[in-house]
Amino acid sequence: MDEVTAALKRYFGFDGFLAHQEEIVREILSGDDLCVIMPTGAGKSLCYQLPLLLRPGYGIVVSPLISLMKDQVDALTERGIPAAFINSIVPFPEQRRITDSAAAGAVKLLYVAPERFQAPFFQDFLQHCPPETMVVDEAHCISQWGHDFRPSYRQLGEVADRFGIRQVCAFTATATPHVRQDICVQLHRPEMRLHVAGFRRPNLSFSVVQCSSDASKLAAVGKRLARKVPTILYASTRKAVEQLVAEFGVIGYHAGMSDEDRTAAQERFMNEPCPVLAATNAFGMGIDRPDVRQVIHYNLPGSLEAYYQEAGRAGRDGAPADCVLLFAYRDKFVQEFLIDLGNPPEEVIRALYRTLRRLGQKEQTTTLEVTAADLLPQIPEARAESQLSAAFGILEKAGLIARGSRRSGCGILRFTGDLEELRLVHQLENTQRSRFISRCIRRYGEALRQESSHTVEELADTAGLTPEQVRRVLNALNGSCLNWHVPFSGRTTELLHPETGEADLDYDALQAKRDFEMARLEDVIGYASTRGCRQAELVSYFGESVKGWHCACCDNCRWQDAKRPPQGKETVIIRAILQAVDEFDGRFGATRIAKLLSGDSGADTPGRSLSRSRSFGALSALNATRISRYIRALEEAGCLDRIERGEYPCLTVTARGYEVFAGHAEPLLALPPLLEEGKLPASREPRARSRMRQEAPSPRRTEKEKTRPDTSPATECNDLKSELRSLRTEVARSRGVPAFRVLSDAELTALAEKQPLTVEEAMRIKGIGPAKAATVIPLFLDRIRSWRRREFGTEKF
Ligand code: ADP
Ligand code: MG
Repeated sequence: MDEVTAALKRYFGFDGFLAHQEEIVREILSGDDLCVIMPTGAGKSLCYQLPLLLRPGYGIVVSPLISLMKDQVDALTERGIPAAFINSIVPFPEQRRITDSAAAGAVKLLYVAPERFQAPFFQDFLQHCPPETMVVDEAHCISQWGHDFRPSYRQLGEVADRFGIRQVCAFTATATPHVRQDICVQLHRPEMRLHVAGFRRPNLSFSVVQCSSDASKLAAVGKRLARKVPTILYASTRKAVEQLVAEFGVIGYHAGMSDEDRTAAQERFMNEPCPVLAATNAFGMGIDRPDVRQVIHYNLPGSLEAYYQEAGRAGRDGAPADCVLLFAYRDKFVQEFLIDLGNPPEEVIRALYRTLRRLGQKEQTTTLEVTAADLLPQIPEARAESQLSAAFGILEKAGLIARGSRRSGCGILRFTGDLEELRLVHQLENTQRSRFISRCIRRYGEALRQESSHTVEELADTAGLTPEQVRRVLNALNGSCLNWHVPFSGRTTELLHPETGEADLDYDALQAKRDFEMARLEDVIGYASTRGCRQAELVSYFGESVKGWHCACCDNCRWQDAKRPPQGKETVIIRAILQAVDEFDGRFGATRIAKLLSGDSGADTPGRSLSRSRSFGALSALNATRISRYIRALEEAGCLDRIERGEYPCLTVTARGYEVFAGHAEPLLALPPLLEEGKLPASREPRARSRMRQEAPSPRRTEKEKTRPDTSPATECNDLKSELRSLRTEVARSRGVPAFRVLSDAELTALAEKQPLTVEEAMRIKGIGPAKAATVIPLFLDRIRSWRRREFGTEKF
């Protein structure tokens, strides 16, 4: 056994290397600069830890997240490996002790956050005792094209040059050409050797579940969570995370939570036997729980790199695990909208800058106390507050403005009434107002006649009320017996170049960034709609060659293996579907065709009944979900095709489809074999039955359909009512009232049925009066309009 293998056993207790590790360890020992791109869980850390341990001196490991660093170092010290970390939370004397140990060779692996290189103390240390090697972990953070860009990573090339660090090695799981190139360039090591390997993860089973409403996504999640296994649920917004937490009682994690709460969430996730954690992408870097059995993406990820990295947190132990993407076609529009907001157009950036400058001139200052929310009404070009926030960020990056830290809290209070009289009137009353007034007078006395500043929390403490109550009391009393003024809450903006009149930025570069994000989104959509092996698609995207390899366990591979000819009466089903698609060639999507065939009058559009179509109810013995599965199978068999029309894809019959219809060919269906012949539709008069169903729709069946979880990729249920219902939940939550106070069930149902477009129309519904019309109804009308646009390509008929 040679030295390397012996050290592997001695330090880490492993009997052998994982794939590629040994090769990389030896390359690093040879002293070359190396850029290693291997997926999450491939065991990259060991690739640099081991050589650093075998070498004299110490090595620096740059790592982006404090939590990540601590976990790694804890794990190492537990194994008796001499490692330590330095970051902003380590007290200064401790930092000194650690650098001393590194200098003496007693600490071999020194983890640091990139910001440390700016600290004079640390620079001083590096000057005197530079390491032989600097390892940059999560090196994609260096690239603006990566999903996790950290400006503080940009200086690392400089640092290596300045302190004469001989060897620089980079490690990441992100393997797009852009990022790869950026790593070498930014680290000032263009000759770096590249090592891309190991993207195949045969134990991971990828699948995409088509959903068309939040309700069906929730149902799909519910079904998955029935398996009691360690699970991560990724969602794209904090709000969505909170919704999942509320819905399923799972652990939540996002950047909006306090540090303590996040640490607690992380610890629960690491320690509980079967935790389910809903998180934004803020969670996960370096999370080292090997037995995560499923990673479910509730929203569309922004890129395939991000997706593979997050999904790859499943099954690190090598045992089978599932990676599920819940995909609603309209997520694409949500993502596009988010990209729009994050990349404001030139006119918004210019308008913001002009407005800021004008304000500065008016107020004769370069320090502005103004928020994106304040400015939104003044800048009609901007679509939303968050778009302005993004524009602020761009101006800041361009060096035209600087933003201060968040200021909030203190308001200015002055009592205007006669204090003695107020005291007498209020001291015996027990309302919140009286309590507030009398206790303030008792505590602050005469000082209240002058303006003085207080935080709401302090006043709450004085009055024995909650901060929320104090805010209400202050608003109610403001202008009567007291004046209360909250000067500014938010970040200040400093105009750095007030002499510059226009924001003349590199708008081409900004446009390129936007195009790049859009293109990456298209890659994700491509993945979601691929018919081929999902993992092969991902692996080849990262630049590893696949050469006909397929995973044999993703949804597509599994369907592929199960392909079979139609059985029994399935030929009838297939002919009916082909006929229906032909009848509405290129105008209807899969959902509507399925509804039409099942005889569901939900396929109608107001003013246009489809019940006279000869396809209406032709497969009324099957529900729409079953029919959708056949439609999907026919698509996969090349008999149907999707064409983009308006906002959603519509179906058409292919040449092969016509051959099948004519009985000249037989499709191979990617469906499980039929067990019960009896469940198939008997051939019967479709029209007669469909009319019956129209007159007496069975409420039980519709209810059941609505709550049925997604069981197949083809399940779609565009369900306005459940959309309105989830909107109601949101509104109720944001207003802190029970859902029925927002709208009763009957009103909700009537809205979904009548689909009013104006407030007047809505007010014809029983129970909806002027109060609701003025407050909540516009929100629901918006939702109805967008639903109709999505569903029919127009709001009006
Ligand atoms: P990466 O940084 O590539 O995502 P890590 O370095 O965090 O992956 O390693 C993933 C897991 O693999 C860790 O739990 C680690 O202990 C384990 N591991 C690494 N090398 C070996 C090995 N040679 N034998 C067994 N397990 C290993
Ligand atoms: Mg790692």
